[in-house]
Amino acid sequence: SIVIVGSINVDITTRSDRLPQPGETLHGHSYSINLGGKGCNQAVALSKLGGDAQLVGRIGKDGFGDIAKQHLTDMGVSTHYVLSDAVHGTGIAVIGVDANSENSITVIGGANLAVDESDLERTSDLLNGAEIMLMQLEIPVQTCLSAAKKVRAAGGIVIFDPAPAPVNGLPEGFLQNVDVVTPNETEAEIMTGFRPTNAKEAAHAADLLREKGVAAAVVKLGARGVYFKDDNSEGFIEPYKVNAIDTVAAGDCFNGGLAYALSKKKTLKEAVRFAAACGALSTTKQGAATSAPSLEEVKALMGR
Ligand code: ADP
Repeated sequence: SIVIVGSINVDITTRSDRLPQPGETLHGHSYSINLGGKGCNQAVALSKLGGDAQLVGRIGKDGFGDIAKQHLTDMGVSTHYVLSDAVHGTGIAVIGVDANSENSITVIGGANLAVDESDLERTSDLLNGAEIMLMQLEIPVQTCLSAAKKVRAAGGIVIFDPAPAPVNGLPEGFLQNVDVVTPNETEAEIMTGFRPTNAKEAAHAADLLREKGVAAAVVKLGARGVYFKDDNSEGFIEPYKVNAIDTVAAGDCFNGGLAYALSKKKTLKEAVRFAAACGALSTTKQGAATSAPSLEEVKALMGR
């Protein structure tokens, strides 16, 4: 199985002509409630491709927790290893969107910030049997490090999406416990001090990351494509030409695709190509997890 250790949020999105000023009460048009959080988005992306996604994380014992669980189940993600936290509330994001699609977002991490060592102990069998584990930075970084060590020790592959960017740095030796790291431009800059904007610069950023002990670096340049390098291979994948309307969660769909392809024993190059198709397709639809493509859609784009 592929294990995702990560965040679970409920996104509450409001739509109004403009965003409210401080102290102002504004009447908007509509709202929607959706599943969010990078852990959830990546698990859903994986599941939509047909992967066996096992999510490890926490929700609260509250109405939002029930909503999150229902959405996950509907999307084919197992919630067997999702803990209902008796103390902390479900993580939420309150998102205001105006007529120009400009947004302002407040995230309350809640139960996500309580994911700790005990979660790794209660899911020990799952982690020890994981072929691949995907993790991001919306849960405590020390929990990520422990999870990586555990999965690695049992022979699994660890994929690390350093998002949101680790502005306070990573614990000493963190990347030595990771097999594949997948930063975007901003995250690569925070991690290396160097902002890549093209293939040549991405190659340099990848070298800097690999010097920190990670075997494979995959540097995502959004609509400009993606660079990858490991011990045996390197290259640049040109972006797929799509009609992009909403780039939210493109990186999450990319990572779900990468994990899926690596679980099918694809080479890094093949897996990055597959992941880039997933990321590209997700930009053609509105929404986060809901915009993730099916396997058929990915194959159709790659075969073109
Ligand atoms: P993040 O969401 O982490 O910032 P990116 O924006 O780099 O990630 O998107 C992830 C991947 O999705 C990119 O590396 C690329 O493969 C694909 N992608 C994103 N935007 C586009 C686009 N406009 N056209 C084609 N591919 C895209």
